[in-house]
Amino acid sequence: MFHSTMKQLDLYLHGERTAQMSHTRIRVKFSNLNYHLYNYGLSNSPNCDECNVPETPIHYFMECNKYSIIRNDMVTGISDILPTANRAGRISLNILLHGKRELSHNDNTKLFDIVHSYIRRSGRNP
Ligand SMILES: [Zn+2]
Repeated sequence: MFHSTMKQLDLYLHGERTAQMSHTRIRVKFSNLNYHLYNYGLSNSPNCDECNVPETPIHYFMECNKYSIIRNDMVTGISDILPTANRAGRISLNILLHGKRELSHNDNTKLFDIVHSYIRRSGRNP
C-alpha cells in the first residue's frame, strides 16, 4: 500500500515542471480551464472560447475542436502503450490524469510524457 502510494506520488511529480504543474492543477480541479476558473468565481463564463460549451477537463483533453491534431498524436501514442484489449476508445480522462494501475511504472511515466506533450502543444497552459 505504502509502496504503491509512493509510486503514484512519484508519477504525479514526473516530467517537465510547467506541464506537470498544469496536469496537477487539472487533477485537483484548480486549473486555468474556464470550467474550473468559473467554479472559483475567477471567470465570467465556464465555456471554451472556441466551442461555447463548458471547458471541462474532458472537453480540453478529449473534445475541443482546437486540439484535434495534437489529440490524434496523444491517442496514437497512448494506444501504443495500452495493452491491446484496452486500445481504441478506452482512453478515459481517468487514465490521462492518473495513469493506469495495470501498466508498469515505466509505461505510466511514458503515458504522462505524452499527456504533458499535449498540454505543451495546446499552448493553453491550463
Ligand atoms: Zn473547445
